[in-house]
Amino acid sequence: MEIEKIDCLIIGSGPAGYTAAIYASRAGLNPVMYQGIQPGGQLTITTEVDNYPGYPDGITGPEMMQNFEAQAKRFGTDVRYGMVTSVDFTGFPHKVVVDGQKEIEAKTVIVSTGASAKWLGLESEQRLNGKGVSACAVCDGFFFRNQDVVVVGAGDTAAEEASYLAKLCRKVYMLVRRDEMRASKIMQKRVETLPNIEILWNTETVEVQGEEAVERVLVRNHVTGEERTLEATGFFVAIGHKPNTDIFKGFLDMDETGYIQTVKGTSLTNIKGVFACGDAQDNVYRQAVTAAGTGCMAALDAERFLAALEVEHEIIQTA
Ligand code: NDP
Repeated sequence: MEIEKIDCLIIGSGPAGYTAAIYASRAGLNPVMYQGIQPGGQLTITTEVDNYPGYPDGITGPEMMQNFEAQAKRFGTDVRYGMVTSVDFTGFPHKVVVDGQKEIEAKTVIVSTGASAKWLGLESEQRLNGKGVSACAVCDGFFFRNQDVVVVGAGDTAAEEASYLAKLCRKVYMLVRRDEMRASKIMQKRVETLPNIEILWNTETVEVQGEEAVERVLVRNHVTGEERTLEATGFFVAIGHKPNTDIFKGFLDMDETGYIQTVKGTSLTNIKGVFACGDAQDNVYRQAVTAAGTGCMAALDAERFLAALEVEHEIIQTA
């Protein structure tokens, strides 16, 4: 197998990865980035991005990610198509296999593989994705001002999304599949007391309906069997996220869902020279701008690690 030796490898190409790439390139680390299965990350399936600072008129998700990529390339990041298929962090340098056929030995690895929203798996949900179907109220809620929307889910994310949307929208239907919520008591109380949130218990989605965009949602109460059509233009799925971290299992410390654990206030993982940023390590904020911020941190941490390694090397040489 062909082996390439590099100083800095960035895995994943969302806002975290590209920001790490910009900083690492400018610091002379000659980073190589593998973009992964969805170049540009989750933002490439978003329409308008109105909350990223610096774009007073907004920008589409795909266009923003093209800008991120162009900026990283401008400073020399080697951006490559390809998927990291396995890693070995037991020794040093760190070993990474790309597409099952190429091995890279990297002194530093920046993990920015992101997370993926979970979907219900309905055909109609997929067809209308980005046309009223969304997995991010903070990103897309603004487009549904004074309209009626549906939120699916009953965890803290769903409760938070429903509360956020209740401020913007005329009415929010919350579809809870059981007769109780998983969300923390305080979040539940919040949704229960907001006057424009209607919670539909024991209720599941049958179909999201509409030709070009979401127009209504057909739901069913699985206890009574009753079906009902909700007139709504937005359909927000908030049934959890899955961090894209499976390949790091057994090497990096993670929580029970798979979010990588970093040392508080840094991007450091339990493995020296491996740094994590963006949604792969954040289940709370999950915004492009916070991901970008942690990408910057990861590059600075990698730079410091390499500088310390250099000093260590010099001391050994002169001893
Ligand atoms: P959770 O896994 O906690 O909740 C997912 C919810 O979606 C559950 O209520 C689940 O129902 C429901 N669900 C799953 N699949 C389906 C389906 N096919 N159809 C309908 N409903 C479905 O995910 P969250 O994203 O809400 O939270 C993840 C973690 O992040 C939690 O630990 C949470 O506390 C934390 N978090 C904290 C926040 C904060 O502190 N501000 C904000 C957001 C998240 P069921 O209950 O029946 O399984």
